[in-house]
Amino acid sequence: MDHFIFRQSADLELLVCKPMEAQGFINAFTTRYGGVSPLPAAALNLGNYSQDDYANITENRRRLKEALGLPDWPLLTLRQIHSADVHSIFTIDGAAPFLDRNPPPGDAIVSCLTRVLLAIQTADCLPILIADRRTGVTAAIHAGWRGTVAGIVTRIVGLMQQRLGVSPADLIVAQGPAIGPCCFEVGPEVIARFRELHDQVDCLLSGHQVDGRANLDLPLANRLQFRQLGVDDSSIYDCNLCTVCQNDKFFSYRLEKGAERPVGRLMGLIGRNQFDE
Ligand SMILES: [Zn+2]
Repeated sequence: MDHFIFRQSADLELLVCKPMEAQGFINAFTTRYGGVSPLPAAALNLGNYSQDDYANITENRRRLKEALGLPDWPLLTLRQIHSADVHSIFTIDGAAPFLDRNPPPGDAIVSCLTRVLLAIQTADCLPILIADRRTGVTAAIHAGWRGTVAGIVTRIVGLMQQRLGVSPADLIVAQGPAIGPCCFEVGPEVIARFRELHDQVDCLLSGHQVDGRANLDLPLANRLQFRQLGVDDSSIYDCNLCTVCQNDKFFSYRLEKGAERPVGRLMGLIGRNQFDE
């Protein structure tokens, strides 16, 4: 948590990665209150159209941009599908579909544009923000266990290298609030999938049970992917906040879905004003 700070703005409380901000990158992870959604009340639901009014989500997103002091910046989102599909946006025209209520499907977005916000919606899955110190390129990733095991981090960093001339050594990474290793119990079938792809799987698991279930460390699994790609370990920042343990602050799908009420979505965002190489 050392490298993160909670910042109050109007009725919103936003978690900011300080080293990323110090390099000129606007970034934030939202918390659950300060909005108008009845989930259960005054909730800042920034996604989940199927269970909340479009007008509520629009107002919540407006409040968020207002709180960031960026009311006019377009907010680029994805229709997240737990895939490893990555989108790259090079022009303002190319950004247009991502402003829509029904944006293209995918789980990671990368752009060289300034004055736009790339946004990922989560409620337990890991939101990851990436900033390139040298070129100013930004990216946002939705990494649940499926995306993680499919190597979504490896996919997007590879694309940044090939198409945007990014070097992994220049990247700064912020991993936001997600279900932690304290609470993320998974079954043997999930563990088997990780075992197929990661030789270091044992360090990701704890609390082994006789039926084969264990707790999985999703942030560490993604950190290992970044490390393997050549990102400096000291440039990867984890907030270490668990959405289940801190359900007073964050939405948690796993915890709240049983309460028979809709679960809101948090947002992780990144953007940049201008860039001088
Ligand atoms: Zn926890």
